[in-house]
Amino acid sequence: LTCQASNNAVSSRNDELPVHGISETIVGVLGGGQLGRMLCQDASKMGIKIMILDPQENCPASSLSYQHMVGSFDDSATVEQFAKRCGVLTVEIEHVDVATLEKLEQQGVDCQPKASTIRIIQDKYLQKVHFSQHEIPLPEFMKIDDLEGAKKAGEIFGYPLMIKSRRLAYDGRGNAVANSEEELPFSVEALGGFGRGLYVEKWAPFIKELAVIVARGRDNSILCYPVVETIHRDNICHIVKAPANLDRKIRECATEVARKAVNSLEGAGVFAVELFFTKDGQILLNEVAPRPHNSGHHTIESCYTSQFEQHLRAVVGLPLGDPSMKAPAAIMYNILGEDEGEVGFQLAHQLMGRALTIPGATVHWYDKPEMRKQRKMGHITIVGPSLGSVEKSLAMLEGKKEDHKS
Ligand code: ATP
Ligand code: MG
Ligand code: MG
Repeated sequence: LTCQASNNAVSSRNDELPVHGISETIVGVLGGGQLGRMLCQDASKMGIKIMILDPQENCPASSLSYQHMVGSFDDSATVEQFAKRCGVLTVEIEHVDVATLEKLEQQGVDCQPKASTIRIIQDKYLQKVHFSQHEIPLPEFMKIDDLEGAKKAGEIFGYPLMIKSRRLAYDGRGNAVANSEEELPFSVEALGGFGRGLYVEKWAPFIKELAVIVARGRDNSILCYPVVETIHRDNICHIVKAPANLDRKIRECATEVARKAVNSLEGAGVFAVELFFTKDGQILLNEVAPRPHNSGHHTIESCYTSQFEQHLRAVVGLPLGDPSMKAPAAIMYNILGEDEGEVGFQLAHQLMGRALTIPGATVHWYDKPEMRKQRKMGHITIVGPSLGSVEKSLAMLEGKKEDHKS
């Protein structure tokens, strides 16, 4: 791989340099999955160059990036080598080698968001400790080191009990529910045992799950996107409705919790705050992602500034864009692998074919080389004049008959 970015090495933007375009900062992204791909798509509109670091040669972002360094974002020497070629370093996944990021920061490498943020977030237990110290409302939680500890947690929190892996969790892989004390050993086993580092959370009796994308610029300005409702299937985000159909008071409360959570973290970029809205009217924080997020994909079609453009603006130091919706309503539907291999591809193909016939629908296909069950392969966003209208279009997409009552 040749390096064309040598004059941009290590230290970040130099305001003395002439800028021929919106920004000459080369943005280095750790990870080249679908989030990296969509960052590249918006970067190309603004002529911003993105370098990605990802071990997979044909990862979703590869073909759209300015340069792709094939290597692991969890390997110290590789991350260091990569950082030298970029003006600013950011992430599309939080499971990166944070010790190296901290070291690089000390040497003057510009990481956005800050390594301290990644460190807090990549360990869900530390994340919970951090947010509770900042008085953010969240489900009660407790570290567990052995079966005795798990039983004690069960006595205190009751059942069902949510057991979570501290690290490397995504799409619910890393969560196990124990419905009774008898189930505890099996749930722990399913997560790979106590050695992996586990903690428990009290069950959150939510009516709805919500999410707020919060953007922070390098000047510390903060803007929040409208609150959305996220609907999960088997722990995986499946449908996002924007805006969330809730009382204004609840939306304001959710936005405030999200803003406060992000305010407690350092660095520029977009952050996604996942929330529970509970039976008794509480807003509780579930987790934060320090990067663009599935709950913000709808913003590409439905908002004046997409979450991806916003992230780029934030990390390179441009003014933040308007996060408000330009369409009254939007629904995002994840294309999840229904089956392995060719059968799965065919089912996804049929779904996308239906989407192409629906007014207001846009198809996104991530071009992942392999189809797997439950894998996020793409998504479809439908925008329209009302939530009712996009819900009807969603029913068409899913091949459901129209409701004749309405
Ligand atoms: P992501 O793909 O969002 O990163 P993840 O693997 O980090 O997912 P979580 O967000 O912790 O997992 O949990 C996944 C889902 O499990 C939540 O969206 C929610 O539906 C459910 N869940 C998580 N924690 C709790 C809880 N304490 N009580 C009830 N349900 C929960
Ligand atoms: Mg998560
Ligand atoms: Mg989550």
